[in-house]
Amino acid sequence: MRYFGVIGSPIHHSLSPLIHNFLFSYLGISAHYDKFDIPSPSLLASTLQSLSGANITLPYKEEVFGLCDEVRGFAQEVEAINTVLCRNQKLYGFNTDGLGFWECIKNLELKTALVLGAGGSARAIAMMLKKQGVDTMIYNRTPSKVDFFRSRGIGVLETLEVKEVDLLVHTTSVGLDGKSLPYQQEKLQSLVSKAKYVFDVIYPSQKGIVGIDQFRDFFLSRPKTAFLGLSNQGMDGLEMLLYQAFFAFEIFCDGQYCFEELKALFYNSLK
Ligand code: NDP
Repeated sequence: MRYFGVIGSPIHHSLSPLIHNFLFSYLGISAHYDKFDIPSPSLLASTLQSLSGANITLPYKEEVFGLCDEVRGFAQEVEAINTVLCRNQKLYGFNTDGLGFWECIKNLELKTALVLGAGGSARAIAMMLKKQGVDTMIYNRTPSKVDFFRSRGIGVLETLEVKEVDLLVHTTSVGLDGKSLPYQQEKLQSLVSKAKYVFDVIYPSQKGIVGIDQFRDFFLSRPKTAFLGLSNQGMDGLEMLLYQAFFAFEIFCDGQYCFEELKALFYNSLK
C-alpha cells in the first residue's frame, strides 16, 4: 500500500482525498490519500518523507519549493509547488495549478487578463496566462508582494483601476465563507461589468461531502461564490480543482494514466 496526502493549514475543507481515493479505488490501485493539517513549516519535510507523494496547499506552496531536491516543468517558472513525488528519500516538485486553470479556459478567446491577488495561485495563473500569450496584469492589496510578477514581465496595477479586460481572475483567499469580498464592492462590481469573462479560483464551501454521490449533487447544483455573485456569468474553481488533481494523479502514477483518461473516468461517474 502506498500513502499520499494533501498538506496545508487549514485543510478540513479539502476535497482532494475524495478525488484521489475515488480514482485509486476505481483503478484498483493499492493506495490511500489523507489530509495533513500541519501547523508549522518545520513539520513539512518529515511529513513529505513519510509519503509516496503529496499535494501542497495554502500556505506552504512557496516553502515546499525550497525543500525539493529537484523541481520539474512549469514549477520552475512559478517557484511554487502543489505536487510532490517522493522517491528514494528525494523530493521532486511540480506545479499542476497552472495547467488545471488553463484546461478550464483554453477555449476562450483572450488577449488581456487582470489577476486579483498575488499568492501561490496567482503566480501559477498569471505565469500560465503569460506563457499562453495573454497580456496579463496583476493587482494586490499589499504592493510589496508583487515583485515576483514585476520581475517576470507581468504588469502591476498600483491602484485598482477599472479596466476593460477579456478575463478577470479572482485569486485572493477572501470568500471561503461564501459572502466576503476582498475589495470594495462597488469597485469590484465595475470591474466585473467591464470583463468579458470572470473566473474565481475559490469554489463554494461545502460540508459533509464524503462520497462520490454527495460530490455529484454538489457539483451539479453548487451555489455561486461571493465573487461570482457580482456577475451574471463566470466560472468557479471547482473544475480547476479537479483538473489540477488529475494532472497530479498522472504524476503519482508515473504517467500510467493520462489526464484525458482520468477526466473521462471521473466525469462519467458524475452522470
Ligand atoms: P495565498 O495565501 O498564497 O495568497 C492569498 C492572497 O489573498 C494574497 O494575494 C493576499 O493578499 C490576498 N488576501 C488575503 N486576505 C485578504 C484580504 N482581507 N483582502 C484582500 N486580499 C487578501 O493563497 P493561494 O493563492 O494559495 O490561494 C488563494 C485561494 O485560491 C484559496 O482560497 C485557495 O483555496 C484557492 N485555490 C484554489 C485552487 C483550485 O484548484 N480551485 C488552487 C489553488 C488555490 P496580501 O498579499 O495583501 O496578503
